[in-house]
Amino acid sequence: MKPNEFLDAIKSLGITLTKEKEHLLNIYANFLLEYNEHTNLTAIKTVEEVYLKHFYDSLTLTKIANLEQGKLLDIGTGVGFPGLVLAIVFPNLEVTLLDSNNKKILFLQECLKKLNLSNVKIIYNRAEEYTKNHREVFDYVTSRAVAELRILLELGIPSLKVNGSYLVMKGIIQEELENSQKTLKNLSCEIILKEEFELPNQAGHRTLLKIKKEKPTDLKYPRRYDQIKKKA
Ligand code: SAM
Repeated sequence: MKPNEFLDAIKSLGITLTKEKEHLLNIYANFLLEYNEHTNLTAIKTVEEVYLKHFYDSLTLTKIANLEQGKLLDIGTGVGFPGLVLAIVFPNLEVTLLDSNNKKILFLQECLKKLNLSNVKIIYNRAEEYTKNHREVFDYVTSRAVAELRILLELGIPSLKVNGSYLVMKGIIQEELENSQKTLKNLSCEIILKEEFELPNQAGHRTLLKIKKEKPTDLKYPRRYDQIKKKA
């Protein structure tokens, strides 16, 4: 997807970019590809792939949530997907990018210097450590390609405000959904939207889930990662 095709495609998501935002995305794409030549960060190697598989895909979250404002935590953001794209497109959204991989955090810090955004914070930590100590503060939590759904829920739900939503980006999800029923109950949350579609240019199947937190989370969550992995 060429940058001009991207601009057309996001119109169907109801998004029109200013020249300034177009420019910031262009800086981000080029810096990622340039950095990736000396430090292996992503398998994606062309501008067209960045615009489709990273930028367009990140913005599909607007199908299930209005992200114009509020506080958002992107768990396992990697090199900024979906969180940094959302921060560029929605300057009134306060975005916290969290990852436990130092190499990716260093990239994000350098990238942020180039983009000069005031609505982004970068955190180098494990999600379970961070969310244990930052409880009920975010309107949204997001994650793409980080862990199985039941694990994500325990990592992220403690940080959401009551009535806030976890916006989960997945491929085919049936089995994970079945394995998450107990965790959904333990964490008092409910799937309120499920949106399935194909990404353009045969880039894959996408399932987006919007999971609402109904009650404050018991202080025993999140548990240690080895316990989370073992059972609900
Ligand atoms: N979300 C990005 C994307 O879609 O391009 C990155 C996906 S990458 C496959 C998974 C990322 O999750 C890695 O950068 C990894 O370091 C991070 N991650 C996995 N478990 C984590 C945890 N418990 N706490 C923080 N980061 C975690």
